[in-house]
Amino acid sequence: MKRLALLLTALFGVLIALLVIRTMTFTSRQLRPPSAEQLQLDKDAIVTRLSEAIQFKTISFESGTESNPDPFRDFHAFLAKSFPRVHAQLTREVVNDHSLLYTWKGKDDRLKPILLMAHMDVVPVDPDSEKLWTHAPFSGQVADGYVWGRGTMDDKVSVLGILEAVEKLLADGFQPHCTVYLAFGHDEEIGGQQGAAKIAALLSERRVQPEFVLDEGSAIVDGIIPGVAAPIAMIGIGEKGYLTLQLTVTSTGGHSSLPPSESAIGILSRAIDKVETTRFPRRVNDAVKEFFNFVGPELSWHKKVLLANLWLTEPWLERELAKSPLTDSMIRTTKATTIFQAGDKENVLPARAQAIINFRLISGDTTDAVIERVRQVIDDERVKITPLPFSIEPSPISSVDADGFKLVRRTISQVAPQTIVAPFLTIAATDTRHYAKLTKHIYRFVPIALRPEDAERIHGVDERISIEDYERCIRFYTQLIRNSQSSI
Ligand SMILES: [Zn+2]
Repeated sequence: MKRLALLLTALFGVLIALLVIRTMTFTSRQLRPPSAEQLQLDKDAIVTRLSEAIQFKTISFESGTESNPDPFRDFHAFLAKSFPRVHAQLTREVVNDHSLLYTWKGKDDRLKPILLMAHMDVVPVDPDSEKLWTHAPFSGQVADGYVWGRGTMDDKVSVLGILEAVEKLLADGFQPHCTVYLAFGHDEEIGGQQGAAKIAALLSERRVQPEFVLDEGSAIVDGIIPGVAAPIAMIGIGEKGYLTLQLTVTSTGGHSSLPPSESAIGILSRAIDKVETTRFPRRVNDAVKEFFNFVGPELSWHKKVLLANLWLTEPWLERELAKSPLTDSMIRTTKATTIFQAGDKENVLPARAQAIINFRLISGDTTDAVIERVRQVIDDERVKITPLPFSIEPSPISSVDADGFKLVRRTISQVAPQTIVAPFLTIAATDTRHYAKLTKHIYRFVPIALRPEDAERIHGVDERISIEDYERCIRFYTQLIRNSQSSI
């Protein structure tokens, strides 16, 4: 008995020692490089150009058919007029009528190029919500320290921010060592098949293999991750997959005075209820683990102990993350019922009931596995399950040890030194998947600050960017291109 007690005490001692050692070696991965060179920006001029850019209605409509080409052509002309050095010194190609590819030749041909992405299109403004906007959505109004309007956050901030940076560098007589590509798609909001996909195909034909690709898809979040007070600059190193399933139940219909025991609506409702109440299993994937490897050392001692010892505490972490929808979506395939249609007369049984459920897949899941799981969960042959044509598998996770990641990370530390820089899993889909064949190193980040109330502005009402954030974006892209000299 005594020996057992001794053994247990010894084991407990070893466990404590292990926890302490792991915590002590869980050291900061934050860089503290010298600050970026101060950029002299003409504030009025940059703000005016962004404001003008917002006024072009470069809208991607869901159906694709309503898209009006004129705003894109006008927008191209506006860019040419606004950034004369870029258009005189870089090669500009119009790809598939509306997308743009710029090539800025580097000094050294042996170096791999880098590719900066953004998209020129925006989502439409829901007519019902238009009156809720503080300033009209395509006004580009400058007020209260912000530029307001559709596209200020998603994603004209990047298109204009990148071009401002290159224009400024050209004015300073700068020429990059490696070639820099700027790739601006025109249909990201409806899948990027006509824009980014075509640019990527063109680059692939030319055997271009970028060292890394940088796109939108993540930001500086402030007060969104529970338990972390400092703002976090999150670099997306992977993104979730996308799948939409249509559920259909058909019946013979008939008069409501002679109802069958189960209606099409009842059968479909039960199927949806089963899908909604059965959550997908939690999985702390590599992107999430890396996130905590970078954030953990910056937290208080007790949180550090927990995060440094995920081999023991992973179930606790999973439970914690599951508590908020945002963090839960980092560790699980999610689903959302978005459309339900059935019936059009009060005394007629509908012959068909139909619903749409949209899934966002965590890495490790596949679209086939999700379809099979939904089939098993519903377990009712009367419910026909049809995947809609547009689907995306979860992306591979890009390395945090690659030069591209290091470059982005160092640049953020220089232009936003007060942030914790950490890799992250991008929840939404971006155009980057079209470039997956060109490089394994794909990162997603725009240095705009997102507080909890700001997330809804993207694709929503009162989209806006602070002038301070916009200046930081320009500093970021300028510094990133400057840094690419030394790091690659
Ligand atoms: Zn976007």
